Amino acid sequence: MISSSQLVLGSATVLGSVFWVELVRDIYHVLAHIWEPLNRLHIWHHKVFRRDLTVIDEDIYKKAHWYNDLPEAGVMLGFGLLFWVTLCLFQVNMAWLGLAGCLYTLSFMGAAIARGFGVPYAEELTDITHRPGAFEKLPGDWFVNRPYHWRHHFDNQEAYYCGTFTLVDKVMGTALSLKGKRVAVTGASGTLGQALLTELHQAGAKAIALTSSTQELSLDIQGQIVPLKTLAWQVGNEAAILEDLKKVDILVLNHGINVHGDRHPEAIHKSYEINTFSQQRLIELFLSTITTNQDRVRKEIWVNTSEAEVNPAVSPLYELSKRALGDLVTLQRLDAPIVIRKLILGPFKSPLNPLGVMSASWIAKRIVGGARRDFRNIIVTINPFTYLFFPIKEFLVANYFRLFSKGKTP
Ligand SMILES: [Zn+2]
Ligand SMILES: [Zn+2]
Repeated sequence: MISSSQLVLGSATVLGSVFWVELVRDIYHVLAHIWEPLNRLHIWHHKVFRRDLTVIDEDIYKKAHWYNDLPEAGVMLGFGLLFWVTLCLFQVNMAWLGLAGCLYTLSFMGAAIARGFGVPYAEELTDITHRPGAFEKLPGDWFVNRPYHWRHHFDNQEAYYCGTFTLVDKVMGTALSLKGKRVAVTGASGTLGQALLTELHQAGAKAIALTSSTQELSLDIQGQIVPLKTLAWQVGNEAAILEDLKKVDILVLNHGINVHGDRHPEAIHKSYEINTFSQQRLIELFLSTITTNQDRVRKEIWVNTSEAEVNPAVSPLYELSKRALGDLVTLQRLDAPIVIRKLILGPFKSPLNPLGVMSASWIAKRIVGGARRDFRNIIVTINPFTYLFFPIKEFLVANYFRLFSKGKTP
């Protein structure tokens, strides 16, 4: 009879050994992009595919397996054996289970050899992250899938390194690359808008200001004035910027209004119109620009719904309109063809809120850092309850919506 503690230890050893060899694979891949001797082998893998993931040349495809996939599996096997030897040296119970990672690696090695020899169907059955065809899923959050890996080939080769689990990219901040992406931010003349645009510019993105003012905006980066591409738009006339949105990769919805204690009908109308409906119209407009595989993995929406989703903001209409927006985003992202991130932010210091504890630039840094780690809900606040309540609320509401509403049938 196997005791429950043996079962737990055994499972942990098997999973740990598999995780270990995957970690080795990802580190090997990172090194292959920065260390010339390994890069000479790895480069073959990057010569194989067209943007639609069809193979350019069968000969190069076969060679890539001998030069890249096979050595990679060899290194994984070597370190897998090292894992098992270490368990033996420490006389861990059932150390032989630590060989699971080697067995797992041998399946990749066998597949790489089969593809290298051009064995029929080896490619279709074993090379699942490189198959052509329409992307039906979003880039994986915790597991690498085809849309996730496509970006390593054609978005930025200095990001999206992971092969199976996305953990290494999350730790390194390479799970989303902003380099060269056109990122448009609404509420661009506000304190947080300016801080976000600065941070995005410094992350290598092409920052675009979306503002209701007619003035051209610029950034002040350590005394240097950087002019910004500025697009004017008006609440209620969102459709006028459709052509501009087609050229935008990431739309950051950051505009909003706080009527504080006012509860006149006009204040109700204004709060919902700006904080909920105009954002909703921009989301729908932006989603209408998604047509290609590339759009589905490069385009994103980030919505600043604020921590008023789960906490009081001492402003009833601000809370009501922001919660409505937050819930609508939760509903819409059940079928959205692209990643929609929520920014759950606490109050920050600005001319409107001189008592705020956090600075806008500190928040902007954390938002960009969270996005690069591919967090779909980016929480930045000093209130510990938000970190506790928001994930529970989001999980429950999303599943309630999933159960009691229907989306598009594919
Ligand atoms: Zn690849
Ligand atoms: Zn690579």
